[in-house]
Amino acid sequence: HRVPFVLANWKINKLQGEVKDFIEKVNDKVPAADVVETGIAAQDIFLADMIRETAQSPVQVVAENVHWEDSGAFTGETSPRALADIGVNYVLIGHFERRKFFNETDSTVNLKVTAALRNGLKPIIDIDEDMSAYAQFMDAEPAVAQVAAALAGVSVDQIRNITIAYEPTWAIGSGEAASAEQAQKAAHLIRQTLAHLYSPSISEKVRILYGGSVNPDNASEIMSQPDIDGVLVGKAALDPDQFLKLAQIA
Ligand code: 13P
Repeated sequence: HRVPFVLANWKINKLQGEVKDFIEKVNDKVPAADVVETGIAAQDIFLADMIRETAQSPVQVVAENVHWEDSGAFTGETSPRALADIGVNYVLIGHFERRKFFNETDSTVNLKVTAALRNGLKPIIDIDEDMSAYAQFMDAEPAVAQVAAALAGVSVDQIRNITIAYEPTWAIGSGEAASAEQAQKAAHLIRQTLAHLYSPSISEKVRILYGGSVNPDNASEIMSQPDIDGVLVGKAALDPDQFLKLAQIA
């Protein structure tokens, strides 16, 4: 049994006052964490306030990025040790926008995943690979390359702390979500890859989210797919009512 996860990704939208208003609105309205886990990924500057403001609520405060070294001379980066220290539990790693605009690669994603785990943070690893080529070879040994690369060196014990988010690049911010069938196909390939890297039973324990133009109208069909355990939502989740709706749908 995998608890569904509804995660907002605010990117660099919202100002301090808007963050506070949003949290006040959703705090006591989100479902209990054992029914649906909810989270908000926000800019680092807001995380400490958000942790304080959600202290009595199940909402998880999520970082959007992290550096791979725990401390030292890396001006402008955020230490995984410092995120853990202020009470952050989850961190988004390898978002498409990080890969596209900030030159993140499979190997830096892997360094960040390892660093997060070492500090007790739970990585939500973003995969944007085009899987149309794999889909034809469903029966052959599937290997979603970004998944395998991101998880290099991650042990069987650590994999329980990993969430994978599949976000096809063409669906992000385009208003055109993948169909439920396309999303399921990709999630299934990711789960097969996990089964291949670890074991079938371990692969059943890892949550796989879909992201890309999710909204309250398309979320229920997407989330009802057998291999999809939640959604990663940009634009729609900037609105507290839509965020709550998505949490209720899950
Ligand atoms: P949109 O929901 O705005 O398409 O953004 C998706 C996304 O990038 C979430 O990480």
